[in-house]
Amino acid sequence: MKIQDVKTYLLRTELTGEQIFAYSQAWYKTRTVMLVEVISDEGISGFGEAYGPAAGNRAIVEELYKPLLLGRDPLDTQVLWEELYNAFRDYGRKGMPVAALSAVDIALWDLKGKALGLPIYKLLGGPFRKEVQAYATGLYRRQVPDQAKALAEEAQGYVAEGFRAMKVKVGFGIEEDVRNVKAVREAIGPERRLMVDANHAYDAREAIRLGRLIEPFDIYWFEEPVVPEDLDGYLQVKQALKIPIAGGEAEYTRYGFRELLSKRAVDIVQPDLCACGGFSEAMKIWTLASTWGVTYYPHVWGSAVGLYASLHLAAALPPNPLALFPTELLFELDRTPNPFRERLATTPLVRKGDMIEIPQGPGLGLALNRDLLKASAVS
Ligand code: CA
Repeated sequence: MKIQDVKTYLLRTELTGEQIFAYSQAWYKTRTVMLVEVISDEGISGFGEAYGPAAGNRAIVEELYKPLLLGRDPLDTQVLWEELYNAFRDYGRKGMPVAALSAVDIALWDLKGKALGLPIYKLLGGPFRKEVQAYATGLYRRQVPDQAKALAEEAQGYVAEGFRAMKVKVGFGIEEDVRNVKAVREAIGPERRLMVDANHAYDAREAIRLGRLIEPFDIYWFEEPVVPEDLDGYLQVKQALKIPIAGGEAEYTRYGFRELLSKRAVDIVQPDLCACGGFSEAMKIWTLASTWGVTYYPHVWGSAVGLYASLHLAAALPPNPLALFPTELLFELDRTPNPFRERLATTPLVRKGDMIEIPQGPGLGLALNRDLLKASAVS
């Protein structure tokens, strides 16, 4: 089998009014996605997604990776990963070159699964679970007069939907963060898990100050307290607080995670499958995490492609550690408005309360809505 074509799709949709939201770094007024389709000479195709700036990721696939992929055997996932990474090693060991490579790798695994008639989680070594417990990623800043009130109402909505865990955005100034976290905790009661995510809005000193003020609200983890480059800052925050520290969505490849893990800078590592290097690299990062005893919960964002792919990975990640009643992973489920997450799959995910079934069927187990793909694609 040979790779006959590599296509890219840049999808964009505008958010309006109440759909617009912000995290600590920016307002979200559009949603964009970059998908890669690898097509074989036998007519089998696979899809992958890249995390991050869609136009940049697309250019890297089209200009740099596509010429190296044409004519190659799409089943040679490891060989192709190493060759593509090595071809641009001197210029792109982190960021978009690795995210674009992730999209190619996920597409190759989807194609391989379809060619062999097996779901990707089987190819990764089999499922440790048939369903995963999701937590709601929402509770962003919105264009409303009273953030705390809006957050409390949104949180109660997730409780009503059956979510037992959710994550609130912080990083908007410490006094406001404390007010918001308190409002959400009071809205959801003491039993449910509550996480906070600063998207690296603080330095270690301020992150510690925030952490101490919100410790009484029983925070399950504090995500990205400081910038990803500041591993010593991570350690400082981790040592100062009782709250577990999480991070890793802005880290790339086994080489990047080696630093984060060997320093034990986080309690929970959160690689994004569509950024860290795809399935081929995510399993290596899991291997590293397991040797350092660090828990691996995937970071998940983007369209149905990234979501389905992350569910296959989540199925194949062993509990840390295995036991009769292991601590099960928590799967990130984005609740912000995104038609590419909700409508790109022709068969929606099966979710009861906060439990999501792992998609079945060959490859990603995902049939894409080609009409939406065409209608949303920008050239
Ligand atoms: Ca995050």
